Amino acid sequence: MIHNLNFRLLAAFTVVIIVTIGAAFFLTYQNTRNEITQMGERLELNQNKSMQQELSRYFQIVNNWDSIQPFIEQWGQLYQRRIILTDNNNVVVADSDGQLLGSAYSDSLVDKEMAQIPISSTGQLLEIIIPHGQGKPWIASITSDTIGMLYVVHGDFPNINSTALQITYDSIGSYYLWGGLVAIVLAVLLAFLLSRRILAPVKSLINATRQFGRGNFSHRVEDKDRGELGELANSFNSMAKNLERNERLRRDMVADVAHELRTPLSNLKGYLEAINDGVVKPDEATIRSLNEEASSLSHLVADLQELSLADAGELKMTFQSENIKSLIQEAVDASQSKAAAKGLKLIAELPDELPALNIDAHRIKQVLYNLLDNSIAHTGKKGKITIKALEKTNLISVSVADTGKGIPSEDLPMIFERFYRVDKSRTRTTGGSGLGLTITKRLVEAHGGKISVESRPGKGSTFTFTLPVSSKISAAAT
Ligand code: ADP
Repeated sequence: MIHNLNFRLLAAFTVVIIVTIGAAFFLTYQNTRNEITQMGERLELNQNKSMQQELSRYFQIVNNWDSIQPFIEQWGQLYQRRIILTDNNNVVVADSDGQLLGSAYSDSLVDKEMAQIPISSTGQLLEIIIPHGQGKPWIASITSDTIGMLYVVHGDFPNINSTALQITYDSIGSYYLWGGLVAIVLAVLLAFLLSRRILAPVKSLINATRQFGRGNFSHRVEDKDRGELGELANSFNSMAKNLERNERLRRDMVADVAHELRTPLSNLKGYLEAINDGVVKPDEATIRSLNEEASSLSHLVADLQELSLADAGELKMTFQSENIKSLIQEAVDASQSKAAAKGLKLIAELPDELPALNIDAHRIKQVLYNLLDNSIAHTGKKGKITIKALEKTNLISVSVADTGKGIPSEDLPMIFERFYRVDKSRTRTTGGSGLGLTITKRLVEAHGGKISVESRPGKGSTFTFTLPVSSKISAAAT
């Protein structure tokens, strides 16, 4: 359960949501607290200033503090703060609590911290001094026309008592708690749906790999997702396609090989049984036939082995600087007698100079012999076979052209495929193994070259292969 990706995503979402809501709650709570404190301070300042002005105006009219006590008492009740007024001699002339009337004022007589508010005879707003205040907190400074001092309890916010504050904090807290809980439930629900959506492609990939494990290579995943998961699905599908292709090739290969081996083996078996039954005499001709069957079988096996090595990129190659012109010449000279026996003209048209190539001479000769043998085999009497070599930019191109029967255009695309023969009726004994051109192509490619064919039925065929001059050897072939 804990390792389940769905669960992990859900847990991650939930943690993020809780942290976000917690942080928002903390910040709002803190800000509200600050706001309320500042509001209280502003309220206190405004009340103090209005009392300062009122008292100043009162003195201007009455000219003494004799009847001020009832006003101070009223303010005390109204603002719910202790308010004390002294005259210029520091004698208490009014006290909202009435206790200190007539006595000399001292901070020690009151157990609260008091703001000190000078009252001016001119109505001027003088500087109010608050406990722990910094610099000049508010307006003017004390002057000679001060006619008294008002002391008001500082910091006990008027009208906003601590219960009211607590209620505010509590309600914010409960809004957040319930709001947060609802948000978490909704978010978890959403996260659940989202994570299911996000994980759907992953699940289909898991399902696909399972199918693969069971050998079902045709299974594909939907790749409609655009992001990385879509890319993953895409590369999975192309991997699946390759695997399916390789698996099909492997199966075909086994089937092809079995098919190719069956005929010569049953021929051999037939001959041997006939000899055994006394139907055929084990004379020289029979033994030659048997030998031919056996040697073409061993050729086939050798070709197959070479092809499988080439397919696996494990062909043993020895690359060294070689003169391609002499290699071609050698192959032409060696094939002359075979061509002559069929009444064919075999000529080489080679330039005076060709650059040395970094190649495996033995393999390139094998390519040349394969192409020349095919041309000789598929060209009728009085035909002509021409081998040419040309130097092009960064490569040498070698072509073997014949005036033979050619290859039908529908067969051309398959000509380099394993066991492909144009004339299906030709058997391994009358024709080749059908592997010659496949091996030839692999050998050319192992040299970093390419092979192609052009052919017109009835006119002849031209096989052309290239070899890079700065022979970039394919790693697989070394
Ligand atoms: P094989 O061993 O049968 O010759 P290859 O792979 O060498 O097999 O050739 C495949 C087929 O291509 C041959 O069976 C033949 O039909 C055709 N082919 C190859 N070379 C030529 C050519 N020069 N002219 C006509 N057909 C050719």
